[in-house]
Parts: sequence; structure tokens; C-alpha cells
Amino acid sequence: MPSSPETTISVTRTRTPQPRPEDASLSFGKVFTDHMVLMEYEEGRGWHSPRVVPYGSLTMDPATSVLHYGQAVFDGLKAFRGADGQVRLFRAQRHAERLNRSCAALCIPEMDAGLIRRSFEAIVAADHEWVPRSPGTSLYIRPTVVATEVQLGVHPAHRYTYFVICSPVGSYYKEGVKPVRILATDKYVRAVQGGLGEAKTAANYAASLSAQRDAERQGYTQVLWLDAIERRWIDEVGTMNIMLRIGDEVITPPLGGTILDGVTRNSALALMRDWGVRVSERRISIEEVMQAGQDGSLREMWGTGTAAVVSPVGELGYRDQRIVIGGGQTGELTQRLYDAITAIQYGRAPDPHGWTSVVEAPAAAAAA
Ligand SMILES: *Cc1c(COP(=O)(O)O)cnc(C)c1O
Repeated sequence: MPSSPETTISVTRTRTPQPRPEDASLSFGKVFTDHMVLMEYEEGRGWHSPRVVPYGSLTMDPATSVLHYGQAVFDGLKAFRGADGQVRLFRAQRHAERLNRSCAALCIPEMDAGLIRRSFEAIVAADHEWVPRSPGTSLYIRPTVVATEVQLGVHPAHRYTYFVICSPVGSYYKEGVKPVRILATDKYVRAVQGGLGEAKTAANYAASLSAQRDAERQGYTQVLWLDAIERRWIDEVGTMNIMLRIGDEVITPPLGGTILDGVTRNSALALMRDWGVRVSERRISIEEVMQAGQDGSLREMWGTGTAAVVSPVGELGYRDQRIVIGGGQTGELTQRLYDAITAIQYGRAPDPHGWTSVVEAPAAAAAA
């Protein structure tokens, strides 16, 4: 049972608002807004004191447990300013629920999912003016939970801090959707059954760095992860879910232990099913992919994730083989998914699944 939620999120506004960067200068995750959300957990008291406060440093004792044993989870979602000026969150409830599942995987006490969702709305309302206006830009929202107990024993902590920070981010595709080159690795693994692959936790990203560095040294952009046991079944690409189109079938590996349940993955599957595309969530081996690449039936391959929406794969390397996919161009279905998802996010298209929610500016800021 999650601890009983306090229903009000108090707001303390900054007295020193920072100048906002020009939209054209925005990249990813380098600039942060004026405010953040904080909330603490203590054993016996539960999660308490949710609040919006001025953005600032967290001070930590060097013996704080997260710094040693990595009991940390996060999530990532976005708010978009539409052509109509309205600011919309995309699938906030689903992100809140996933953060809780990540907490559960790391023995972190769960929060009230409704309260998490309202904390996203509260920070976007407080920093409403920070949601950039140019096409393709957005406000990236990063909720995080870390263990803050001061002790060096290895056990689940008795204290935690939840925080949410926000970063205005530039268009991922300033010059249109652009295919990447990926390298399938059988040397490194990302996750194994019984491990943490289903959780968005710091450890998974630390574990991915040397594989990513190796791929970059060989001239590739991202790693294609294979399963940890047979090193044969396709898992994920970089920090995205993977989809392939072979003939008229779209294939994505099933959830079930090692794969993160991506919100973009789920959205893409729902749209393709709406469109009558034949979609299979099934295991697919690297041999089948390389074979389909050679016989020409592999028409498209793309990653899905919040940062890019879709990331087309133009080239795939595995051992000493290399295949070019769809002539190295963005495929038709990949582009259609990108266009459809972004149209819903920016309020240009109807939202039949109810994925977006409008966040109003606070009355005082609207009047200013
Ligand atoms: C965040 C993430 C994804 C994509 O999830 P979205 O909810 O679509 O952003 C996929 N795989 C991994 C490993 C991730 O960390």
C-alpha cells in the first residue's frame, strides 16, 4: 500500500528568475528551469511534504547510500507548446505508474501515482513560460528518486528524496528525421532475466557506457543489445525500444523481464494497430534480421523513445557483416509514426486515446 498522499503541493516561487535561453540555442539537458519539485520519505512517516521550490543544489553527506550503492530510479517525459499556445503533457499518468514500477524493482517505497502526476503538472505550471515555442522544441521533465539514508550498510534505505527537474530542449531533428548506424554487440549485455532491465534505474546506464564507447570507436551511433544468455535475440537499441518491418509485418521484442516498457513503444503499437498494420510482439534473432537485410525483406528498422520519438536505423553491423536498411533513408512507416505522434503531442491532431493533458499557466504568471 503506498503511503497516504498529502493532497496539496505547496509552491514557493523563486525571487531570482533566470533569463531563458533562445530556442535556437537549446540542446538536451544542459539548462534547467527556475523551479523543482521536492518530496521526502522517512520510515514511519511515509512520503511527505510535496512542494515546488526554487531550483537549487541538494546537499548530501558523503555517506549517503545512493552515492555508494546506486539505489536510484528516474523517468523522462515531455511537455509541448502547441500552435494554439496550449501546453500539453504526453501520457503523464503512464510515466507516473512506470516510475512506481521502477521504485518497486529497487525496493524503494512507492508513491501515490496520482500525486506523481500532479507533481508533473505543478512543475510545468510553475515553469510554464519555460516551455519553448519553436517547432520541435519541448520541456523535458526528469522525475528522480534517490536513497538519502546516511549509512554504508547494503540494504534498502529508510529515507529517500523525490525530485523533479525540467530542461527546455531543442528539436531532436533540426534537419529532419535522420537515420543512424547501429552495431549489434555480442560482447556486452544490458540486462538479463531476473535483473533490472525493466526498471529505469541508474545502474543500467552505467552498465551501457563501455559498449556505447566501443560502438562509437567503430563509427556507429548506438548499440543494438542482444539477450544476455544466448546473445542472439534482439532486445533494445541504445536507450530506446526497437521495431522492425519485415515484409508486411512489424516486429518488436516482447516485454517480459529485460526490456523497458517504453511509453513511445506502447503509443506506436497502439497507432499501428489503429491503422490496421500487422504488429507482432515476438522474439526475433539477429540471424533473422541479417538474413532479412540480405534478401531485401527488411524494409525498415527504428528505435522509439521520448527524446527522439522515432530514430530510424539506416545501417546495422554485426560481427563482420553490415547491412544497409531501406537505402539508408527514413522508412515510410517510421516517418508516419513520427508525424502522427508529434501531431498529437503538439495538439495539431485529435487525441483519440486521451494521451495528452493541458497544463494551464498559474493565474498570477498569466497576468504578468
Ligand atoms: C527510457 C527508455 C526507453 C524509452 O522509453 P520511453 O518511455 O518511450 O521514453 C527504452 N529503453 C530504455 C532502456 C530506456 O531507458
